Amino acid sequence: MDFVFEPEAITTLAVHDSLKRFPVRRIYCVGRNYSEHVKEMAATLGGEAGKQRADEPPCFFTKPADAIVTDGKAARYPSRTQDLHHEIELVVAIGKSGANIAVPDAWDHIYGFATGLDLTRRDLQTASKKAGQPWDTGKAFDDSAPVSEIHTIDQTGRVESGRIWLQVNGEMRQQADISDMTWGIPEVIAELSTLFTLAPGDLVFTGTPAGVAAIQRGDVLEGGVDGVSRLRVEIV
Ligand code: MN
Repeated sequence: MDFVFEPEAITTLAVHDSLKRFPVRRIYCVGRNYSEHVKEMAATLGGEAGKQRADEPPCFFTKPADAIVTDGKAARYPSRTQDLHHEIELVVAIGKSGANIAVPDAWDHIYGFATGLDLTRRDLQTASKKAGQPWDTGKAFDDSAPVSEIHTIDQTGRVESGRIWLQVNGEMRQQADISDMTWGIPEVIAELSTLFTLAPGDLVFTGTPAGVAAIQRGDVLEGGVDGVSRLRVEIV
């Protein structure tokens, strides 16, 4: 193929105990998937905007694949924010394509799991919410998606519980259990697949528990999902 310029290299993730790498296609993210985090966000918005209905479906947004920062690397503090927040999340790696996937079939579409950070320009996201505008500037910026190596589902089993945690400079900031999710992994995959055709290489960030807060240049973030993986990233 003769390109008018050299194309960017595709983003890839390491796979635990393998020499092969996982090529990333798309990044989907779930918002509002732990009720304690929904409550803390409600405090910043107030009124009806902060409330979650019992029958509310998952809300989705995306990040570009090249926003990924791999484990141990540095993430650059983004421009145009005074309030960069950490959100530790379990990440699902899709290994088999599908649309309108039934909940009981969802596990069959999973290649493995990783730990991710949904870094967020909270000030820009809050302004977008108030104005009824898209979240892209708050969520989809450069280096906004640090992700660990992937452990295959054969290595981890079905991840339905387990501690998810994040320390900043050695201090615990977020700690919860995967079983606290409002929509479990099969429900998230089933719902997402009614909106987009999922394909191998897709990643799904499954939402963050309570405890999100601001980070600064020089902070070292270490987090993980027990039984899955760990992630370390420095903000520079
Ligand atoms: Mn998030």
